Amino acid sequence: MFDNKKFKYTAYYAVGAAIVLMILNFVLVDMKTQSIKYNEFLQMVNEKRVEEVQISRDRLIIIPKTEEGQKKKIMYTGNVGDPQLIENLKTAGVTFNSVVPDNNPFKNFFINWVLPIIMFTFLGRLIFGRLDKKLGSGVMSFGKNTAKLYAENETGKTFADVAGQDEAKESLVEIVDFLHQPQKYTEIGAKLPKGALLVGPPGTGKTLLAKAVAGEAKVPFFSMSGSEFVEMFVGMGAARVRDLFKQAAEKAPCIIFIDEIDAIGKSREGNISGNDEREQTLNQLLAEMDGFDSTKPVVILAATNRPEILDKALLRPGRFDRRVIVDRPDLKGREAILKVHLKAVKYSEDLNTEAIAKATPGAVGADLANMVNEAALRAVKHSRKEIIQEDLEEAIEVIIAGKEKKDRIMSDKEKKTVAFHEVGHALVAALLKGTDPVHKITIVPRTMGALGYTMQLPEEDKYLSTKEELLNQISILLGGRAAEEVEFDSISTGASNDIERATQTARSMVTMYGMSDRFDMMGLESPSNRYLDGRPVQNCSAETSAIIDEETLNIIKEAHQKAKDILKNNRELMTNIAERLLEKETIMGDEFMEIVKESGVLESLDK
Ligand code: ADP
Ligand code: MG
Ligand code: ZN
Repeated sequence: MFDNKKFKYTAYYAVGAAIVLMILNFVLVDMKTQSIKYNEFLQMVNEKRVEEVQISRDRLIIIPKTEEGQKKKIMYTGNVGDPQLIENLKTAGVTFNSVVPDNNPFKNFFINWVLPIIMFTFLGRLIFGRLDKKLGSGVMSFGKNTAKLYAENETGKTFADVAGQDEAKESLVEIVDFLHQPQKYTEIGAKLPKGALLVGPPGTGKTLLAKAVAGEAKVPFFSMSGSEFVEMFVGMGAARVRDLFKQAAEKAPCIIFIDEIDAIGKSREGNISGNDEREQTLNQLLAEMDGFDSTKPVVILAATNRPEILDKALLRPGRFDRRVIVDRPDLKGREAILKVHLKAVKYSEDLNTEAIAKATPGAVGADLANMVNEAALRAVKHSRKEIIQEDLEEAIEVIIAGKEKKDRIMSDKEKKTVAFHEVGHALVAALLKGTDPVHKITIVPRTMGALGYTMQLPEEDKYLSTKEELLNQISILLGGRAAEEVEFDSISTGASNDIERATQTARSMVTMYGMSDRFDMMGLESPSNRYLDGRPVQNCSAETSAIIDEETLNIIKEAHQKAKDILKNNRELMTNIAERLLEKETIMGDEFMEIVKESGVLESLDK
């Protein structure tokens, strides 16, 4: 194959060498000839030391007479326009002639036009090429090539690659159809939505869906990330938008995909300092979307996980007027996603994907894809030819809690503390009504900081929690510390994460879920973002805020006491299980429940 890059460099070197040679030539010529004064020249003529003179418009080239064996040294002097020059030369018997200016048009053209252009291009490339490399790509390309770079003729993705997002797919099918046969729609005079906004938490498959739409419709896919528009020079983002739409228009039907559109589409109001560059880019985008002929089969898709900060102008009819929600997958969705990703790997036939899906509430597509890969890596590590259930189960824990860290050595005392702490969580969970069953208790430390943990798994996906369930959750979270208190009568730092989560839940009960008597159904906080976990926004006075703290504290105190009571009343059972845990390091849910049932406490609880 013809290696284009190599050729380019060879060309560069050739031009460079030519320039160097030319410069050398000038210098050498200068060294061989000698400049003299005009009166010196006249003297030489008078003394008959000159053999020949070549007269040109601005200089006289003098060839002196030489004696035998002497080297010829050419001299020159300026043409001062001496009217007696010819007379003098004639009397001195010097041969002379006038140099006819070189009128070869090709040569002139080359020297006056072509050569300088070549030289400047070469120098420009050299300097800006370096600059470009230093400052990151695209500084000097002014957005020209960037859009092209991201153009894919075939994304290779189809709806079959996206699982668990059936509603989202359904709303995109129409767009695919429009791209397929636009005339069907234009004949009747229908205008299709120009843009659709994919909204959802990170990792749920928004980018994937956009690619799948292009893949299904078999049209080119122009993609760019919002942050790429906001560049270092003002005006460049707008230029890029223009460029992108121009290229797309040439390639219609096609899809333009703007990922992370919130980077440019941030609401302009309430932003005093302003960001000129972003605003210009956004305005350009709006202008391009309006200017676009809606009968032209170009569809603009955009993705964001922060829809609430988008400028209202973007969401107006005729722009991104369609919203496609790409939410966290449910149980069935997770299983379907697992199956999609398992297609790419070898796995044992008795793999129970439903169990894995059950064990991963809240996981998004990206997590599940990652889990399958982790499982495959683990299978290789254990020199197996296929993934087994255990690999996937371990992969879930790796994603949740980090890798096992078996080499971390804990003192026996610390181990004992951790064991009682974890059993505390588990036992409170088992002895409270209506809680999720315990799946696993372990005291094997993990890389992500956990010294041990208790895993509870819901039997099915839950979208609502009752007040009682939330209170139980808090008790379970505080059960770890409660166990330390009951058993050792001393407390450790190991409960910090539990405390954080328990407090969060208790506070939300008061401020967002209307579950405190004090505030009834008054909303005191609202989530700052539906799809990302950010700090909620408080909308109440400082006085109220102080009362919220009080209410939250009451809930926590009550739940803490409840956990302590449960463990105090079942101290023997707790010690029993903790000893088993210390011995085995990990106890699975069934075994744990077996011990609890044997002890007979459940009967007294009528559970
Ligand atoms: P987002 O753009 O929403 O943040 P991506 O589309 O980039 O998420 O997803 C990242 C990866 O996670 C995808 O490449 C894919 O491998 C996997 N993934 C995410 N969602 C799904 C899904 N619904 N079905 C199959 N795979 C998915
Ligand atoms: Mg994405
Ligand atoms: Zn804990």
